[in-house]
Amino acid sequence: MEQHTLTVALAGNPNSGKTSIFNKLTGARQSVGNYPGITVDRKEGHFRWKGTSVRVIDLPGTYSLTAGSPEELIARNVILEEKPDLVINVIDASNLERNLYLTMQLMELGVNMVLAMNMWDVTERRRLKTDLEVLESILGLPAVKTVGSRGRGITRLKDAVLESRGVRTSSPWVKGASTPIKKAVNVLCAELECINKQHCQWKAIKLLEGDSVVESQEDESVVGFASQLASRLETTRGISSGMLIARARYKYIEQLVAQVVVKPVSTSMSRTDKIDAVVTNKYAGIPIFLVMMYLVFSFTFTLGEPLMGYMEQFFEFLGNAVYNLWPAGSDSMLRALLVEGVIGGVGGVLVFLPNIFLLFLAIALLEDSGYMARVAFIMDALMKKLGLHGKSFVPLLIGFGCTIPAILATRTLENRNDRFTTLMVAPLMSCGARFPIYMMIIPAFFPDAWRAPIVWLIYLFGILVAITAAKFLRKSVFKGEVTPFVMELPSYHLPTPVSILRHTWDRAGEYVKKAGTVILAISIVLWVLSSFPKKTEFSTDYDNQIAVLEASAIPTTEVITDSITALENARQAEVFTHTITGRLGKFFEPAMKPLGFDWRVTTALLAATAAKEVFVSQMGVVFAVGEADEDSSTLREKLRDNYTPLQGLAMMLFALISAPCVATIAATKKETESWKWAMIQLFGLTVLAYIITLIVYQVGKLVI
Ligand code: GDP
Ligand code: MG
Repeated sequence: MEQHTLTVALAGNPNSGKTSIFNKLTGARQSVGNYPGITVDRKEGHFRWKGTSVRVIDLPGTYSLTAGSPEELIARNVILEEKPDLVINVIDASNLERNLYLTMQLMELGVNMVLAMNMWDVTERRRLKTDLEVLESILGLPAVKTVGSRGRGITRLKDAVLESRGVRTSSPWVKGASTPIKKAVNVLCAELECINKQHCQWKAIKLLEGDSVVESQEDESVVGFASQLASRLETTRGISSGMLIARARYKYIEQLVAQVVVKPVSTSMSRTDKIDAVVTNKYAGIPIFLVMMYLVFSFTFTLGEPLMGYMEQFFEFLGNAVYNLWPAGSDSMLRALLVEGVIGGVGGVLVFLPNIFLLFLAIALLEDSGYMARVAFIMDALMKKLGLHGKSFVPLLIGFGCTIPAILATRTLENRNDRFTTLMVAPLMSCGARFPIYMMIIPAFFPDAWRAPIVWLIYLFGILVAITAAKFLRKSVFKGEVTPFVMELPSYHLPTPVSILRHTWDRAGEYVKKAGTVILAISIVLWVLSSFPKKTEFSTDYDNQIAVLEASAIPTTEVITDSITALENARQAEVFTHTITGRLGKFFEPAMKPLGFDWRVTTALLAATAAKEVFVSQMGVVFAVGEADEDSSTLREKLRDNYTPLQGLAMMLFALISAPCVATIAATKKETESWKWAMIQLFGLTVLAYIITLIVYQVGKLVI
């Protein structure tokens, strides 16, 4: 039998269920998420149906097909250049109006198309009567009901794919009664040389929208003519031709939906609507979000605290066990490396694994239930008031996990100004790697009842600084108009334990993997830098003085213990300041002193640029190196002995705001395609951190 091969591309809005349908069609497993922008890479799969082999390409989810965002451009280029035989447009049928906007643009491209009316179960639950026959006859396209998450309608979709190879589309809104914009499209269309009428129309529309990619491919004279038409429209109508086109599309959609969808007559609300009425309420929305965040932190503290204690005991035990493998008095370098560098460094980071696990568990719960999408929606109104794009908040929320995917997620922002603004401030969201820093410092200095509120305030402070900085950037460097945006709200799902655990497991696994590889390597390097060169000559004979003190008074009084501690600290300081990192710390100490940081904290902060967790491991190394003998006090006890709570707060603030880790800088460089913005981010944030910490520490000192 002859082998047919069809190529099919899946296009649709983010969260319309594309990935679910892709998986059901091809049997492949893919990540299913609640955020727009999770499907960034190109995914391919195959299936065979009735003797035909079909190749499926999953396009990035987009709301539109402008040349503004990389994702939209990818989707468009695949369609234009690879010319798939068919496009399956996955539509969230419960949000028909918004989803059809992309459909209009796909139709403008003149592709062969089938509509997958997904989320059909939701429309039924909401009792939205959608007449598919009317929709099919008006648009001239086959439409199939599907429920991607459960695989309903997939067989019919496969049939439709085979049957409808011949259905070509064109821009429906250009036909009919002629308004100035339609006239302009037709006039311009006549001037263009194209394969066919659709292609001409598409190019004309793109030129009137000011599409930079199409402009660069056309003759200068044509582009000039188009911009003439556009500016004439703009002077007569008062708005840009791009906006006129968007309006014409929406107007067409509005009329179409009015004929297709019958709104439910009953006044009873769906469960989702009822929850949303409260959760996304204009006044209650933000307070509820703040309470949710607070609950997350009190959850991670109350449950995490005892577990963290066990982890501490375990690593202490491990450290002692390894230490005792060598005879007493041995000065084995390997022992020092293992105990101080590896167990002190990596162990110091792994101690916080239970807290990290609980934090990610809570975030996964909020994400998978659909609540996080609401947060973005709630913030949308606030962000708009500040002149920022509502969609920016989605990448920022992702930043609670890790800044790098957050930076990648800014690709969903069409407008370059919005995108760069969001990307520049994304590191201000407290990522998972900052969490151990807070977990180390907060219990060291603050009583139980204060712990959750303080970490909550730190997170809020990060959000606040991010929004303020974004507003500043949007008003100065990235000036420009705000593009309108309709936020989508997926229905609430009761998250399944399996998917929650998988999400949490994945992220906690990343943390462990990072600790075992990157952090391990950095810890070893830093241990070497923190141990050499070795100090042999001391300014005074500490050992002798300590021995004298110890012998002088039995039983030991508090005064004597204190002087012994002081002597031990002085000796350790001499040992450490002789080493490379110690010298670096000493060198920068004068600059950091006004922020409340001594040379030890300074070295840890410098090292944290490699990866934020390294602050924790480096503090572990700094306090372990040069210790007279095995000291039973934990790192947190040492912190409490050496610093004030205000200094602890200053450390957290500086770690939150200052230079993001190298991986973030690399991501920024890659996404902005310039070192300039990466460097501005690096130095800008560090300067900002310096100023804010300086103010907080100096004012704090006066007040306390
Ligand atoms: P994508 O962003 O377009 O790739 O969308 P996904 O396939 O990741 O789906 C987003 C969410 O919607 C996931 O939680 C899916 O389980 C869910 N989902 C997908 N299709 C349907 C459907 O037909 N009905 C319902 N109720 N949920 C669906
Ligand atoms: Mg997807």
